[in-house]
Amino acid sequence: MVIEKDKSLKHLNTFGIDAKASYYAEIRTIEDLCAVILHPMYRSAPKLILGGGSNILFKQNFNGLILHNLLQGIELLNEDENFVFLKAGAGVIWHEFVLYAVQHGWGGIENLSLIPGTVGASPIQNIGAYGTEIKDTFYELEAIDLQDATTHRFNATACGFGYRDSIFKREAKGRFMIVSVTFRLSKSPVLNTRYGAIEQELQAEGVTQPTIQDVSKAVIAIRSSKLPDPKIIGNAGSFFKNPEIPTSQFETLKAVFPELPGYPGLEGTTKVAAGYLIEQCGWKGKVIGKVGMHRQQALVLVNHGGATGQELIDHAVRVQDSVLEKFGIHLEMEVNIL
Ligand SMILES: Cc1cc2nc3c(=O)[nH]c(=O)nc-3n(C[C@H](O)[C@H](O)[C@H](O)COP(=O)(O)OP(=O)(O)OC[C@H]3O[C@@H](n4cnc5c(N)ncnc54)[C@H](O)[C@@H]3O)c2cc1C
Repeated sequence: MVIEKDKSLKHLNTFGIDAKASYYAEIRTIEDLCAVILHPMYRSAPKLILGGGSNILFKQNFNGLILHNLLQGIELLNEDENFVFLKAGAGVIWHEFVLYAVQHGWGGIENLSLIPGTVGASPIQNIGAYGTEIKDTFYELEAIDLQDATTHRFNATACGFGYRDSIFKREAKGRFMIVSVTFRLSKSPVLNTRYGAIEQELQAEGVTQPTIQDVSKAVIAIRSSKLPDPKIIGNAGSFFKNPEIPTSQFETLKAVFPELPGYPGLEGTTKVAAGYLIEQCGWKGKVIGKVGMHRQQALVLVNHGGATGQELIDHAVRVQDSVLEKFGIHLEMEVNIL
């Protein structure tokens, strides 16, 4: 295995930040992974697992070893009358995995079509879209401890999934490389078309009895029309989480801002659309230097070309400060800052 030095990460993160890594290795087998992390030269080096780089913002160079996960393979592990247990290597492109499932008629992840990134990153923030999260179909994952190369299995409870959250963003942050993920997909899927614009898109296409293929196609069409393509303009999708605030606070705000969108959250909380808050503070489409919030999607922080990670973070903080001042709500960053 080749270990590259002073590797440019510009084409390995969707913000297009021109940061460098001291060392960089492409991981194509678990044996390679174990060999490199146990190697005396790299054993104590800081390590970062990189998938598609679609949820990372480099604010500086990475002084350590980047392990670029390219582990491949999709395997049908098991099946019964109702379900299949489908395992994928962590480096499989998430959307290709979704299409594989959809083509076979196995349901549960079709609403997550076209989310960028890899299968291995999907549990990190429990990716979600259009009323579905991976926790709904997740069965288990295998991970290698980066300290001693031991193998560990995590079921859904052990992953501690929450809204854009799991133990891999908290207590287990940076400790493991996820090497495979197994999903339990349904042979008789129950479609979830009520969320977002899926129903309208299906109607526009004249689909009255949708299949999972139809739902996947509808999601692809909606996402392609709504979200900025990182190949054209650097971004990492939603930069902030939708905040969950006490329902009493939501009602007080609603009296002042009658159009404030809110959805029932966990126990006495309401989830508020962060995009609305950002737009109300005047950030939507506003460009400062090389950065700004996207003109159609206020929640998406964009690099208009040549911005540094620090410039993007400074802008995110400006947005956070103004939302806090106007609404008394703290916006939490969803993207991983390095
Ligand atoms: C245009 C756009 C739209 C998006 N839409 C959505 C959306 O609808 N819903 C949503 O949830 N997300 C969305 N995202 C965010 C992103 O696609 C997901 O978070 C995705 O799972 C990131 O995958 P990745 O492989 O690119 O991870 P990376 O950005 O490479 O890594 C993200 C984090 O996970 C860690 N990591 C990655 N792989 C592993 C592994 N194998 N083992 C251990 N740690 C690992 C990294 O160290 C890093 O901390 C969007 C992003 C973009 C650019």
